[in-house]
Amino acid sequence: MQKLIAKFFAFVVIGLAYLFLPLMPLLASIVFFRAKYFLQYPTVLKKMAIHIRALREGPVVHYFEEVVGRIHHVPDEIEGSCVQCGNCCMEKRCVFLEDMGDTRFQCGIYHSPLRRFSNCGSFPINAHDIERYACPSYSVVKFSPRVVATAVV
Ligand code: SF4
Repeated sequence: MQKLIAKFFAFVVIGLAYLFLPLMPLLASIVFFRAKYFLQYPTVLKKMAIHIRALREGPVVHYFEEVVGRIHHVPDEIEGSCVQCGNCCMEKRCVFLEDMGDTRFQCGIYHSPLRRFSNCGSFPINAHDIERYACPSYSVVKFSPRVVATAVV
C-alpha cells in the first residue's frame, strides 16, 4: 500500500515538475536565492530536463516510500563520511551539483532548508541507498532488525 501511495505522489510531483519546467530556472533563483540559475537560463533549463528525467528513475518514489515512510523502521547503522564524488546526486545529474574540479563536487543549494524535503538530507539511510549509488565511503555496520528478520524468514 505504501508503495502505491509513494508512486501516486511521485507521479504528481513529476507531473508538476514537467508542467513548470519552462519556469524552473526562474523559480530556482527565487526559491534558493541564486541569481545564476536565471542568468544561465538556457543551460539550466537543459539541466533541469535531465534532472527531472533522473527523478523519474526512482528518487521521488524512494523519497515518499523510504524517507517520508521510514519513521516506522529502525534504520541500518551506517558509518563513513562523504568524499563528494557526486554519485548519490542522481549519478551527477542533479541540476544543483557544482563541479569543484579534481573529481569533487558540491551541492549548490546545501544551505537551503528545503533540502530536507528530498533524499539529499537523509542519504544514506540504508544499505540499498549505498549500493544504488555505489557510494565509495559509507558502509553499513549493523543492519536494522527489519532487514535481519526478513533475511532469517
Ligand atoms: S555517493 Fe557517498 S561519497 Fe559520493 S557524494 Fe554521495 S554520500 Fe558523498
